[in-house]
Amino acid sequence: MIGIDEAQFFDLDVLTKLAAAWANDGKKVVIAALDQTFEGVAFPGMPNLFVEAEVVKKLHAVCMMFGGLASRTHRLGDSKNIVEVGGTDKYQALCRKCFVEANQKR
Ligand SMILES: [Zn+2]
Repeated sequence: MIGIDEAQFFDLDVLTKLAAAWANDGKKVVIAALDQTFEGVAFPGMPNLFVEAEVVKKLHAVCMMFGGLASRTHRLGDSKNIVEVGGTDKYQALCRKCFVEANQKR
């Protein structure tokens, strides 16, 4: 079994090819990742990783505003880099409604 966490930080084109080769070789491959950037769009290469997978399971955080299912990551601050490592000092897990409202205020 091969497990990879935080896959959004990897080159997903390379990771997708490696995962396919490992799976074709009979290994069980489990990959965890954020699917979307702070702008609410797929990380580059993420759709191809999903296509390669036998099973895609979408998990949710808890919306930090009102406690519902959070499917988005809202970045605090003005950085536009796709990857910006940080915790609650830089990010909030938000539901769609709160994410839309937070980004309209920018
Ligand atoms: Zn919310």
